[in-house]
Amino acid sequence: MKIICVGRNYADHAKELKNDLPTEPVLFMKPKTAILLPGKPLYYPEFTKDLHYECELVVRISSNGKFIQEKFAHKYYDAITLGIDYTARDVQREQQKKGLPWEIAKAFDGSAVVGDFAKVTKDTDMTNLQFRLEKNGEVVQNGDTKDLIFSVNSIIAYASRFFTFNIGDLIFTGTPAGVGPVAIGDKLEGYLMGNKVLDTDIR
Ligand code: MG
Repeated sequence: MKIICVGRNYADHAKELKNDLPTEPVLFMKPKTAILLPGKPLYYPEFTKDLHYECELVVRISSNGKFIQEKFAHKYYDAITLGIDYTARDVQREQQKKGLPWEIAKAFDGSAVVGDFAKVTKDTDMTNLQFRLEKNGEVVQNGDTKDLIFSVNSIIAYASRFFTFNIGDLIFTGTPAGVGPVAIGDKLEGYLMGNKVLDTDIR
């Protein structure tokens, strides 16, 4: 399986990192070894001094497909949750400065926290999902998928031009504003439509 991630998909987050708004989805990938399952801690990696959380809506692919049309994309996923796209911001900045790839800053072991999945039903409005991340009990990020620059279905249409989707693949759809650093001992909890789906800490 693979994890396809979207960068700069909320205008307020692109702004806070002083990035231009994209005209096409910014895609990158994380390998299977990046996954940190529910309830597991992340051990602060030794190669960074500026580890950031990025809370994101995560979509689970339920059918294989390539060249998926946007109008059919909803048939290709069946579950959603929240995830954290952990980012070694200092390493990412260095890589960006040199025009190099981001993997060592974003795809390392444990960099993809995945919460508990909820089924997508006929009543799930993918363009109207609210979520939040709390750090040590304080809200640090508020998101709403109505603010996505590229909707879930348009991400699937775009990404499937390049990559075949397989059952079980995940999409990290991008983070809203409010990203920030974590320290050893911090606790992160994610709520999707008011339900707690994610709980992890840093050791
Ligand atoms: Mg992200």
